Amino acid sequence: MWEYLQPVRIIFGNGTINRLAEEIAKMNGSNGLLITSESFEKRGFVEHIKQISNGRINLSYCHVSANPTVIECDKCADILRQNHCDFVLAMGGGSVMDCAKAAATFCLTDNHSTDYLGTGKTIPESHLPLIAVPTTSGTGSEVTCVSVLSDHERGIKSPMNSSGFYPTVAIIDPELTYTVPPHITACTGFDVLCHAIEAYWNIHHQPICDDLAIHAVRLALENIVQAYDNPLDKQARENMAEASVTAGLAFNMPKTTSAHACSYPLTNQLGIAHGEACAMTITHFIRFNADNGCDRIENLAGMLGYHDAHGMADAIDTMREHTGMMLNLKSFNLTDEQLEALIQGSKHPNLLNNPIPVPEEFLRTMYTKLR
Ligand code: NAD
Repeated sequence: MWEYLQPVRIIFGNGTINRLAEEIAKMNGSNGLLITSESFEKRGFVEHIKQISNGRINLSYCHVSANPTVIECDKCADILRQNHCDFVLAMGGGSVMDCAKAAATFCLTDNHSTDYLGTGKTIPESHLPLIAVPTTSGTGSEVTCVSVLSDHERGIKSPMNSSGFYPTVAIIDPELTYTVPPHITACTGFDVLCHAIEAYWNIHHQPICDDLAIHAVRLALENIVQAYDNPLDKQARENMAEASVTAGLAFNMPKTTSAHACSYPLTNQLGIAHGEACAMTITHFIRFNADNGCDRIENLAGMLGYHDAHGMADAIDTMREHTGMMLNLKSFNLTDEQLEALIQGSKHPNLLNNPIPVPEEFLRTMYTKLR
């Protein structure tokens, strides 16, 4: 039994940001809030977006940080409520889109983000129309029903799922990713690769997501290094943007698995960027799954032209090295307590989606090797 749903209209291609006013008009938007990060404000993008919106966006919130917090989300929701906004434009990486998706829903309630994050409280489905414009090729958040927020007070970073979090439309313009610096290009690129691999070997895998995942894995493997080495390589940027959205479509239903489960404590406790944190453990899980009888990873490796899953893991490790990804946790001088916290923090619900049950002992061995 399987189910597939994808309610987000996707507009893909170079220059498609110029369709913004048309898209706002289609949703009868008259008073929108632009949610973005400071780097876009500094580079003059906020004024540009206001101009090309034909007067329909006059408000902006530009303080979304990497790993957005419940405080930032609540601030956006307050602005939306106080100004009676009728739509939201999220322009940025996964952090901006996640913050905007949650704010577009929570603004229609009297609640705060902390009422929902990590509490299990049902998230209402009604939300303001949202236009998502990704500027990194990474999270696929523009097509998912997931929003990941952090609450530093409670020490948690966690995904929330709601069908109310689907954007109304995603405008994916690869030209907007040309300014992403090489290190962030690599981090976000490995996030794409992990989404696709984890969608494919997931216990909830299904045929539509499988095909999307294979397409995305192939594109990511062929283009991460290219985009890292040559940020202005138009074809590599376009291919990574395509890989990112197809990987998003691939994991949205089955969700992620082991590498993402481990990424949450790695980011939360050690501040490692999301994609780099996923890349830290993905090849450990490729080898673990293959050695414990996961045929799907062997089949995927074969389809991609590798001799076996270990060959695929070796190739990914070489890419990690080439792109300067952190290869271990030595620089953190982890204490025993910190190591234990990483192990326990990795027992996130998504770990249960791994095709082979992951025993605590494996996590202990892996983190001890990385230490
Ligand atoms: P990000 O959004 O945190 O951005 C990283 C940095 O890149 C920021 O400083 C940002 O300002 C900068 N940046 C973004 N676009 C740029 C551009 N075009 N030019 C120059 N600089 C640019 O990074 P991300 O990897 O896209 O998102 C990570 C977040 O998304 C994490 O919180 C992660 O947990 C979450 N996530 C969400 C989903 C989902 O389905 N909702 C999936 C995976 C990850």
